[in-house]
Amino acid sequence: MADMKKIIPAHSVTHLIHHPYQPPGEFDSPQPGVFKASTVYFPNVAAMRQREWKNKSGYTYGLHGTPTSYLLEERLCALEGGLQCVLVPSGLAALSTVALALLKTGDEVLLPDNAYGPNKALAEGELKSFGITHQFYDPLNAADLADRINDRTRLVWLEAPGSVSMEFPDLLALTRICKDNNVLCALDNTWGAGLAFKPFDLLGDGTLGVDISAHALTKYPSGGGDVLMGSVMTRDPALHLKIKLCHMRLGLGVAANDVEAVLRSLPSIGIRYKTQDETGRALAAWFQLQPQCAQVLHPAFPESPGHEHWRSLCEISGKTGLAAGLFSVMLSPQYAQSQVDAFCDHLKLFKIGYSWGGPVSLVVPYDIGAMRQAWPTHLKSGTLVRFSTGLETAADLIDDLQQSLLANLPLS
Ligand SMILES: *Cc1c(COP(=O)(O)O)cnc(C)c1O
Repeated sequence: MADMKKIIPAHSVTHLIHHPYQPPGEFDSPQPGVFKASTVYFPNVAAMRQREWKNKSGYTYGLHGTPTSYLLEERLCALEGGLQCVLVPSGLAALSTVALALLKTGDEVLLPDNAYGPNKALAEGELKSFGITHQFYDPLNAADLADRINDRTRLVWLEAPGSVSMEFPDLLALTRICKDNNVLCALDNTWGAGLAFKPFDLLGDGTLGVDISAHALTKYPSGGGDVLMGSVMTRDPALHLKIKLCHMRLGLGVAANDVEAVLRSLPSIGIRYKTQDETGRALAAWFQLQPQCAQVLHPAFPESPGHEHWRSLCEISGKTGLAAGLFSVMLSPQYAQSQVDAFCDHLKLFKIGYSWGGPVSLVVPYDIGAMRQAWPTHLKSGTLVRFSTGLETAADLIDDLQQSLLANLPLS
């Protein structure tokens, strides 16, 4: 039977499609090969029937994993300290996969009031229509989370810091409350990127960690502003299997070329994160000195809500600690929204656009009043503008901020 398959076909087109040449296997180079497939071959029907797809012992179908996707999953686990990982088509798909895998009608999910907006919208949209309720808790008040947990609570989302107003929660206290109440906790760890702190080992002694870490790989792991991807990481095989089964049933796949782009960027994530952090802090420190700025919201700055929690989690053993190159400023309430918009419009190096972690610095004005249940007491009044730093030189970015600030936000 095997021999029959080696017969040379009579027609050259068939011959080229079934060509027997196999290149030598020992090719070794810095970047791994890119495997693209919907169909995966089996040597025979018995092998097809036996092949297992859930545990990376083999391949069954492109949607269930390829050497390329397995490799990225394993490297992400190495970075963050996870044991299992699934890749999904976006960061938001990572959040929705967690919700759909773990929640059913009658359950409740708790989210921080400063959660990534579309995660709140998922709770208010699809989850609500499925009969899954939600509550928003105050991320800076652990007792508020404890009070809201009830016998229907199945999942608690954590985010450190909130992605626009930048409050850094007491992640240790929030995680402990979830553990004490036997409720799963999932962290949106896009900001930390597996570098600022270790979500599965918050104390550094292996005794406390989140159950799930979800990421927008779109941000730092991609680093290029050109890939949308997400991941869901766990350390518990049973929990992983639940997520993996849901992932399979939803038909979530990622494109091999996108995986390759992330694999290519991943080795430089440490230096990119650190450089973008340094630039972000230089800009935030500059803003602190500008009279137009009422408050700098950056976890590494003492005036930023929850700064002490960032310090205790990220500033391990006297080092300066790490933070993403992301911060917001509250511009003085004396300026109208139209003036703040003009300030953003007249920046030359900063582009107006969502997302972060790429090479180009970005700016977005946000309407905090419309995003929160109530205006948070720890935020000064004013108009919020969020900056994400790219890989440009800090001095050039500061010059750019300076020219637009002078032109559009005059001191009265
Ligand atoms: C960007 C982002 C997401 C969503 O990622 P996409 O790939 O854009 O869907 C989720 N959470 C946080 C905190 C983010 O910044």
